[in-house]
Amino acid sequence: MTTDVFASSPKIDRIRHELKRRDLTVIAKDYITPAMLRITLKGDDASDFVSLGADDHIKIFIPTSGGATERRDYTPRRYDTSSRTVVIDFAIHEAGPATQWALNAKIGDVLSIGGPKGSAVVSPDIINWLLVGDETALPAIGRRIEEALAGQRISAVIAITGPEEKQDFTSKAEVNIHWVYRPLSDAAKADLLLQTLEQIEIAPHTFVWVAAEASVTRDVRRYLVEQRGHALPWTKASGYWVKGMADAHEKFE
Ligand SMILES: Cc1cc2nc3c(=O)[nH]c(=O)nc-3n(C[C@H](O)[C@H](O)[C@H](O)COP(=O)(O)OP(=O)(O)OC[C@H]3O[C@@H](n4cnc5c(N)ncnc54)[C@H](O)[C@@H]3O)c2cc1C
Repeated sequence: MTTDVFASSPKIDRIRHELKRRDLTVIAKDYITPAMLRITLKGDDASDFVSLGADDHIKIFIPTSGGATERRDYTPRRYDTSSRTVVIDFAIHEAGPATQWALNAKIGDVLSIGGPKGSAVVSPDIINWLLVGDETALPAIGRRIEEALAGQRISAVIAITGPEEKQDFTSKAEVNIHWVYRPLSDAAKADLLLQTLEQIEIAPHTFVWVAAEASVTRDVRRYLVEQRGHALPWTKASGYWVKGMADAHEKFE
């Protein structure tokens, strides 16, 4: 698999997976920071779990007291088929059903997950990356950084509530993280991310990945494309949640 990095579009392999629902048991619950709750799930159903892209997502299914099921999207932060485990990091906020489930989870509880339906695998030949996001993007950003190759260069601009929410990642790549602090009540404001991005050089053929509250993603994408002239095919932007709306996300093509 080779990529002409001077081509007008990056090479992205889209791989479909058999859609499976898996029932997994909570075996660990750890606050990796005060507002990031890591749940480790285990079970025979995870023996053929597959997730090839750092920003893949699974659905988690939460039964409600009324008998309905709520579904929410989460990133498989890590997985290991030999130990049959899948790890999910929950960014804690004023809880909807998914966050509430994580807060209440006890060792031995069962969580049903579905997917990933597919993976978008960006060519490993791409050298320069810029990752922009908030707490909900941190699992995918962490995965991208940890899975990066020697010789790659990753800059990340990440909005969190304060220094206690910073995470450390190990990587073979050269990584430069700019942490931006704002209260969660300002999570739908892009201004601090934009001010930080203004200080960052963006080489042509940098793969830019953005995921945050939808209006923030929209503003960041508009800034990068319209003001910085970054090519759209090299920009992948997703609204991972929408302020004031439950179970909402947006794609920006
Ligand atoms: C592809 C994809 C991958 C994702 N991966 C992750 C992940 O790995 N970890 C993770 O934590 N989230 C992730 N998210 C975001 C997560 O799906 C949403 O935050 C989701 O709304 C949480 O569900 P909930 O039931 O807690 O809240 P909901 O019932 O959906 O929402 C309740 C209220 O909370 C607000 N809200 C939702 N999320 C936040 C937030 N983060 N901060 C402040 N207010 C919020 C909503 O606007 C709404 O008013 C991902 C989203 C997508 C689309």
